[in-house]
Amino acid sequence: MAREISKKTIKDQWRRKIMEISGENVYKCMQCGTCTASCPMNCDVDAPPRAVMALIQFGQAEALDHLNTPWVCASCHMCDVRCTRGIDIPRVMEALRQIKLRENVDHVEPSNLQPEEVVDLPTIAMVAGMRKFTS
Ligand code: SF4
Ligand code: SF4
Repeated sequence: MAREISKKTIKDQWRRKIMEISGENVYKCMQCGTCTASCPMNCDVDAPPRAVMALIQFGQAEALDHLNTPWVCASCHMCDVRCTRGIDIPRVMEALRQIKLRENVDHVEPSNLQPEEVVDLPTIAMVAGMRKFTS
C-alpha cells in the first residue's frame, strides 16, 4: 500500500517515545528482512517485523495503529538474536503495546453487548476485555 511520507504524516514524538521506552535505536534498522524471515508468527501478523521497523522509522503512527503485529508477537526473540544490526525487536513491540495501553481506551463497550452474551460472560473476562485487549 502506498504511504505518504511528509512532515504531515511523520509523528516524530511518537517515534521518540518508542525509542525512549524500548531503549532501542530504530534508525539502525537497514531493512534486511532477517527478522521477518525468522519470525514464527509471520503468517499471523498484518505486517512483519521488518515492515513495523520501517513504519516506525518513517513515523507512521496511524498506519501502525490498526496492525495486530505488536499484539501477536510472542516475544520469542528469534528476530533479535538474528538481527544484523543488533536491535532488540521484542522490546520495540513492547514499547508499541505500552504506548497503546497508556491511552487507556476500552476495547469492549458494555452497552453494545447483547443480554444473552452478558449472562454467559464471566465478569472477570469482561473486565479484562475492557483493558487487556485495548487496541
Ligand atoms: S519476538 Fe515477535 S517479532 Fe520477533 S520473531 Fe518472535 S514473534 Fe516475531
Ligand atoms: S533484522 Fe534487524 S536490521 Fe534487518 S530488517 Fe529486521 S530489524 Fe531491521
